[in-house]
Amino acid sequence: MEIDIKLGENTEVLFSKTEIQNKVAELGRKISKDYKDKNLYIISLLKGSFIFTADLVREIDIDTKINFVTTSSYSNNTETTGKVKLLTEIKEDLTEYDILIADDIVDSGLTMDFMVNYLKSKNPKSIKSCVLLDKPSRRKVDITADYVGFSIEDKFVVGYGLNFGDYYRNIPYIFSLKN
Ligand code: 5GP
Ligand code: MG
Repeated sequence: MEIDIKLGENTEVLFSKTEIQNKVAELGRKISKDYKDKNLYIISLLKGSFIFTADLVREIDIDTKINFVTTSSYSNNTETTGKVKLLTEIKEDLTEYDILIADDIVDSGLTMDFMVNYLKSKNPKSIKSCVLLDKPSRRKVDITADYVGFSIEDKFVVGYGLNFGDYYRNIPYIFSLKN
């Protein structure tokens, strides 16, 4: 699908800067509490979650390791290719850690499913997932994120790290096209 997104024209703001800020703070508080006696290690999926992760980790007040891996399933169109690739291997021993995968959005679920299975093979103490956005109606695999910011309808959204052709990641709010 080819779409041309121009800010202000035919776009709809779904979540404002403040709404996102409040939600991210709430997630951070929850995670800090749940992982107080654990060995938290956040693994963030680039590139989409770089802004979410940067904000989230500053709302977490317990010790945590943070790392980034690059997955890709989209190029510059809005449909998934169905194939998830990990562009950077994790070589580190993860057996002592409670892994929390951070991503911008769960759509088909293929990326999260792939990551959970990949990380399982490394035998960490636990694996959970945290996403800012969830599009449950689009699932191709049965997966539920453990921490979810907002659940949304089937709309292609951009802003706050989410891109269209690598544009719009810098927009501080989340918006979609009006139908
Ligand atoms: P999934 O594997 O669950 O289908 O999608 C994973 C990735 O696709 C997300 O991490 C995100 O980068 C991208 N994606 C899914 N839905 C959207 C969307 O509505 N907007 C944008 N910009 N990216 C999306
Ligand atoms: Mg992504």
